[in-house]
Amino acid sequence: MQGKIALEEHWAIPETLMDSAGFVPGTYWDELQDRLLDIQDRRLTLMDEHGIETMILSLNAPAVQAIPDRKRAIEVARRANDALAEECAKRPDRFRAFAALPLQDPDAAAQELQRCITDLGFVGALVNGFSQDDQHGNGQEPLYYDLPQYRPFWAEVARLDVPFYLHPRNPLAQDARIYDNHPWLLGPTWAFAQETAVHALRLMACGLFDDHSSLQIVIGHMGEGIPAMLWRMDHRNAWVDLPPTYPAKRRFVDYFTENFHITTSGNFRTQSLIDAILELGADRIMFSTDWPFENIDHAADWFDAASLSEADRTKIGRTNAVSLFGLGR
Ligand code: MN
Repeated sequence: MQGKIALEEHWAIPETLMDSAGFVPGTYWDELQDRLLDIQDRRLTLMDEHGIETMILSLNAPAVQAIPDRKRAIEVARRANDALAEECAKRPDRFRAFAALPLQDPDAAAQELQRCITDLGFVGALVNGFSQDDQHGNGQEPLYYDLPQYRPFWAEVARLDVPFYLHPRNPLAQDARIYDNHPWLLGPTWAFAQETAVHALRLMACGLFDDHSSLQIVIGHMGEGIPAMLWRMDHRNAWVDLPPTYPAKRRFVDYFTENFHITTSGNFRTQSLIDAILELGADRIMFSTDWPFENIDHAADWFDAASLSEADRTKIGRTNAVSLFGLGR
């Protein structure tokens, strides 16, 4: 399919490059850093070869979220966003941008988002899970965005009317004991999905979307497992007459189908896509690759040939993203 839009696509600046070093064996590091630091050359060639018209670019992970020094987090976010704006300006027809945000400081994050949207023309934000802040537990207390101090930030996201991509990161060591002696379960194998799914469920259960019903959150990797578990979350122990105990007013399925979108990043599997279509509908699913951690050819070759209706392929490959991010404007 020609004209695809991909929106979980990463790059790095020198200050954040090493955050990606542990995710591939050392022998692949030269290749991964070449991929991360390139925007205009090899990436663009691969996009041309595989029918990707536009990539919405974002910083690698965990990057800004894992800088407990607030002042530095604010600086690195600003530097990354300025550098990304410059890169996108070289090919505005091919590249758009998500803001990196220093959510250690909710006010600073709201200001940076406003700057990125209004001054730099970005189309939303991509944030790598919880933030670490040296003013909270010496940087060892994961700050999730359902916490009350984030409500003014969310009000600003709603006011600016832009999507927020909640991207994975690994849990902190003290919160990862279930993975002790099983390091192979960290990262994309399992821990990324578990961490991100719980964060997304916290946002739903806290009542955020009752207060801001227009907020639109994007999660990757075919929904981080949530589509497969959605029915069970709303129906567990259905014979017990007990209303939900969380503060939110509605069912998980209501928020997931009205406030969330998912992408195919790193999960190139037709069976899983069909399950997601059955739970969420084809209007809330978007193509993505997760370059450079996954291969563009693996994503595009799979998607182009997947057993889907052509109408759904067009929506998922392109038009859903055009609508959500206002790319035609
Ligand atoms: Mn990713």
